[in-house]
Amino acid sequence: MNPELLSIVIPVYNEAACLAELIRRCLAAGRATGHPFELILVDDGSADGSDAMIREAAREHGEEVVAVLLNRNYGQHAAVLAGLARAAGEIVVTLDADLQNPPEEIPKLVREMARGFDVVGTVRTNRRDSLFRRLASALVNKAVRRATGVMMHDYGCMLRAYRRPIVEAMLQCRESSTFIPILANSFARTTTEIPVRHDARRQGDSKYSLLRLISLQFDLLTSMSTFPLRLLSMVGTIIALGGMGFGIFLMTMRLVYGAAWAVEGVFTLFAALFVFIGAQFIAMGLLGEYIGRIYHDVRGRPRYFVREVVNARQTSLARIRS
Ligand code: UDP
Ligand code: MG
Repeated sequence: MNPELLSIVIPVYNEAACLAELIRRCLAAGRATGHPFELILVDDGSADGSDAMIREAAREHGEEVVAVLLNRNYGQHAAVLAGLARAAGEIVVTLDADLQNPPEEIPKLVREMARGFDVVGTVRTNRRDSLFRRLASALVNKAVRRATGVMMHDYGCMLRAYRRPIVEAMLQCRESSTFIPILANSFARTTTEIPVRHDARRQGDSKYSLLRLISLQFDLLTSMSTFPLRLLSMVGTIIALGGMGFGIFLMTMRLVYGAAWAVEGVFTLFAALFVFIGAQFIAMGLLGEYIGRIYHDVRGRPRYFVREVVNARQTSLARIRS
């Protein structure tokens, strides 16, 4: 039997410092799988010469390296999708360019895929990120597990393997704020997770500022469909019931202890009022998140524009989508 083609998709944004090592280690890992493979490097509008390095690598390595150059920065997930659209492989592996996901784990993922899973996720053992980053991840992972019922422990880790039909399903999705691991899981029949190593970022900085990180978490939250909306009404009900109970409590206290007590009660009422106002603001903010995304999707702009492609195999999807 001919081994299936493997596509390795990597988004690159200002990673010139690790690019040479990344390409070298990925090519070695690709060869170690024993599959024919292509390494798809997607330049997400880098300004530090990463694009030139990627183009150069594609020239040097022939079919093994594919360069996809976007015309400006569209964000990690859009860049990955641009790479997926060019991927011809039966198995597609994604990872980060900063070498926090060791490419040496790729053969392990491919072996796991051979056991017939649609998606192979990974759990980062000994995670090497800042405390804030880990805390945010822990919260989000918990929320997602609750909401989707799909048991995966680490949605943040991009080192993942997908089977061809899953990739094609993801590319059919037109929403513009996507969170790829969740999207993939919603199409997968069988998923599994394996532990992988995680390294500290040695070169360059994390591309996620606090603000971008918050935006990403909202993408994640709203991409889980209607769960947050349902949460909204649940919280609303609880607050309303609490408010009613509180009103009854105030009234009985007033009857038992008289008006003197009620004067102090004014302040309690203020406190209750603030709870309501706070809840309303949270609710409006969340609705705003959805409306913003609806607006974004209604405009229907393409998620990215490809400036140049070097070496890509002809896939039906690339033709449809570009
Ligand atoms: N990335 C990208 N476009 C962006 C931001 C990031 O293509 O706008 C890529 C980046 O080059 C890296 C991956 O996404 O390969 C993850 O980024 P980073 O390591 O900065 O994120 P973190 O590890 O902090 O989650
Ligand atoms: Mg990183």
